[in-house]
Amino acid sequence: MATQTPTRTREELAIDGGPRAVPQGAVPYVRHGVDEIGSAEEAAVLDVLRRKAVFRWQDAEQSYVAKFEAGFAQRTGARFALALNSGTGALITALTAAGIGPGDEVIVPGYTFIASAAAVILCGAVPVIAEIDDTLTIDPDDVAKKITPQTRAIMPVHMRGIPSQMDRIMELATTHGLLVVEDSAQCNGGAFRGRATGTIGHLGCFSLQASKTITAGEGGVVVTDDPKLYARAAMGHDSAMSFWRKLSAEHDVALGDVPSIAGSGFRMSELQGAVAYTQLGKLEGIITPMREAKREILEATAGVPGLRPMRVPDPEGECALSINYLLENAEEAQRFAKTLQAEGVRVGTIHNEGFPDRHIYRYWDYVLNKVPITPTRDPWRDPRYKGKVEYSPDMCPRTLDVLSRTVSVTLNQRMTEEHTPLIAGAIQKVAHALFG
Ligand SMILES: *Cc1c(COP(=O)(O)O)cnc(C)c1O
Repeated sequence: MATQTPTRTREELAIDGGPRAVPQGAVPYVRHGVDEIGSAEEAAVLDVLRRKAVFRWQDAEQSYVAKFEAGFAQRTGARFALALNSGTGALITALTAAGIGPGDEVIVPGYTFIASAAAVILCGAVPVIAEIDDTLTIDPDDVAKKITPQTRAIMPVHMRGIPSQMDRIMELATTHGLLVVEDSAQCNGGAFRGRATGTIGHLGCFSLQASKTITAGEGGVVVTDDPKLYARAAMGHDSAMSFWRKLSAEHDVALGDVPSIAGSGFRMSELQGAVAYTQLGKLEGIITPMREAKREILEATAGVPGLRPMRVPDPEGECALSINYLLENAEEAQRFAKTLQAEGVRVGTIHNEGFPDRHIYRYWDYVLNKVPITPTRDPWRDPRYKGKVEYSPDMCPRTLDVLSRTVSVTLNQRMTEEHTPLIAGAIQKVAHALFG
């Protein structure tokens, strides 16, 4: 009895049983900084432990935290860089330094990690949620619509390594006399028109948490060019900063005669500093291959049917963490992602019904419900707050629409010209099959 064996062609989709365009193991799938941790980080941490200098001010001369700050300032071109123990701490510290508090509104995008909004609330201010546009970053036109007499600051977030439209944001801020606090947690190493993200606004914040481009497990940075903002940030991150300053000529000068304020416990430890300093040296080596891979894949897939790479405000400056496509509708996005995934490509959609992604405003439960931190720490019902912000899960329809239609192909630093043709081939195969 003859058995029917279906003939498989190279073009037959893997999801239908055809061969994968990217064979198992043919493309390395690694995480960013966390998978670059190696002997250099080990040596630096051991050095800290052997010297027993785990606290920044124990051996200020040889402090890794200080070396990290100097290196970070140099790389970004910022006049001052302050290392902290988290990105959220950096945001709280920057907002506090800027004088944001009860009565104030801060405009944040509807697509960012919930910590951006949480930091505003922790400072006693009210987050106002604005739409993103087809760049995945805050929509300047919607920001303009959301400005009220209460608005004190705009917080553009450079999501997924994509710089926000900082020209438009800064223009709005200047016109309306607002502060700009950049959340560059996901865009360490990025730039907008030649200036490092984080250094374009009045203050910029970064994260070194494990999922970011470079990492110390946890960690954060605040950058600014303004000595007074720096002094307030330095004191705001450490309750005893004005005492430690005497141990550091640099801090003594920077703090100058800015009045001392109460601070938090957001210091970076030397163990973190040792890893952060080592990883800083690896940043270029992580971003450059991703930019190269993105260029190669986009070139090889130019003109493929049905696929439009999303607009990037400054392609030169983006970190190229992913290639993003905007599909016609959510169903098509899901189908494209699933089919491409079956070919062996690391790809996904951003907004899925049923998955409460904390990066999408509709799942920010304590924000949408205006939940006070304590009965008296309540930005929305504070008598000093004269605004009347309203939230609802469908208040930013464009954000939800864009996110539900976005398909994101993840890139990493180990992808070389040996791998990019395979990924490009898979994209072409699926696009031709679905939209050809
Ligand atoms: C990671 C992240 C943060 C918070 O950083 P932590 O170091 O985790 O506190 C803030 N904003 C964005 C956009 C992030 O991705």
